[in-house]
Amino acid sequence: MKQSLIIGWLYPELMSTYGDRGNIITLQKRCEWRRIEAKINRLDLGFTINDLKKCDFLFMGGAQDRQQQIVADDLMKKREGLMQMIEDGIPGLYVCGAYQFLGKYYKEANGKIINGLGILDLYTENPGISFSRLIGNCVARVLNDKIIVGFENHGGRTYLGKQVKPLGRVIKGYGNNGKDQNEGAIYKNSFGTYFHGPILPKNPEFADYLIKISLEKKYDSPVNLSPLEDSLEIKAHNAIAKRLNIKL
Ligand code: GLN
Repeated sequence: MKQSLIIGWLYPELMSTYGDRGNIITLQKRCEWRRIEAKINRLDLGFTINDLKKCDFLFMGGAQDRQQQIVADDLMKKREGLMQMIEDGIPGLYVCGAYQFLGKYYKEANGKIINGLGILDLYTENPGISFSRLIGNCVARVLNDKIIVGFENHGGRTYLGKQVKPLGRVIKGYGNNGKDQNEGAIYKNSFGTYFHGPILPKNPEFADYLIKISLEKKYDSPVNLSPLEDSLEIKAHNAIAKRLNIKL
């Protein structure tokens, strides 16, 4: 039986920065190279909860405060549907501004509060325009000791509550807030991260992990993905680590 994945891409025009759309291309290609059909569902402003519920995996990228303001009202209308999917364990990757939306609120540099979905036990505050943004290449140790590399650029500092675990520990860079060494968050099969770049092309193991758990969730049986020829991906991964003097 041919396997397939419907990948829901939330707000592709507004919530996508620093190459985030590369994550969609990576998931699609790594499926297709294994003869797994990957269908991309673009969920633009005004999408319905029915559209959302058709998806086997959810992706949402980052954005500047301005775009987050535009998206906020529309996203809040989908809160119940999204919360149910996240609670049911539908896998998803939420990058930077999207990750901030999963929490209680995001306080912008000007002090204005953007309400969050309140699905994950976290909140984000930008300490103000006089504070520098957290910018640069970054490396973290995540899941079972995997090393991921990426690029971060955020003014917001995120603080995790007790109900969520960090995605990983920062080895180089700032991560959630530049203080507690935490990077991202995990809640059931939902992953929040500050890693742009995009994150998945240079971290093929993490990309495959997301594909594997999405297929296992959909087909309710264990999945072993066939290996791919990743020399280019690994070269790019190692190049960032080398540039940051990280021994792999
Ligand atoms: N606007 C948010 C911040 O500055 C998110 C930035 C992003 O998604 N890159 O923290």
